[in-house]
Amino acid sequence: MWQYLGYTARLRRIGPRLEVVLGDITAERVDAIVNAANETLLGGGGVDGAIHRAAGPELLAHCRTLGGCPTGQAKITPGFGLPARWVIHTVGPIWHGGSHGEAELLASCYRDSLARTDEVGATSIAFPAISTGVYGYPVAPATQIAIDAVRSTSTKVELVRFVCFNDEALNAYRAVLGPNP
Ligand code: ADP
Repeated sequence: MWQYLGYTARLRRIGPRLEVVLGDITAERVDAIVNAANETLLGGGGVDGAIHRAAGPELLAHCRTLGGCPTGQAKITPGFGLPARWVIHTVGPIWHGGSHGEAELLASCYRDSLARTDEVGATSIAFPAISTGVYGYPVAPATQIAIDAVRSTSTKVELVRFVCFNDEALNAYRAVLGPNP
């Protein structure tokens, strides 16, 4: 009987809990926040600029030692002045119409970010809508990819929070996740 109950409990909770919120990712109180960076990892606009401003100059100094990051991959740093202990810097693809491997590269950003998070034993992570700002990825397909990639990745992370900066992103995530993500 006990074995049976344990089995059903595990069946009900496969993978991390997914949440969607509207807000500024730099204020998130999770173990790790994800930065939508560029390949230099030396700072930029959008969420990257906000994270560097909130973390303080030590973050840029640390990023200078990393030698950049290829598109679709992720590197981890401390969070310095941020509430989050870690920042995962990942480089999303620039949208070139959709036939240049953009979908696979974007999915890889989510998978590799979870891999970095697992490596340090962190169990909660917040993602921005990678590539949907300056990099021009259309919001609806980017959202579907983000959710599918997280759901299909084996990870010890228990909470994944998607932090939306505007209503368009929020509505896109809610449309895919439904009322009970
Ligand atoms: P990319 O170059 O990958 O497109 P951007 O920073 O331009 O990166 O945009 C990625 C997403 O991050 C966009 O949806 C943008 O609205 C959002 N964004 C910008 N600033 C913040 C922030 N402080 N917190 C959360 N999301 C943000």
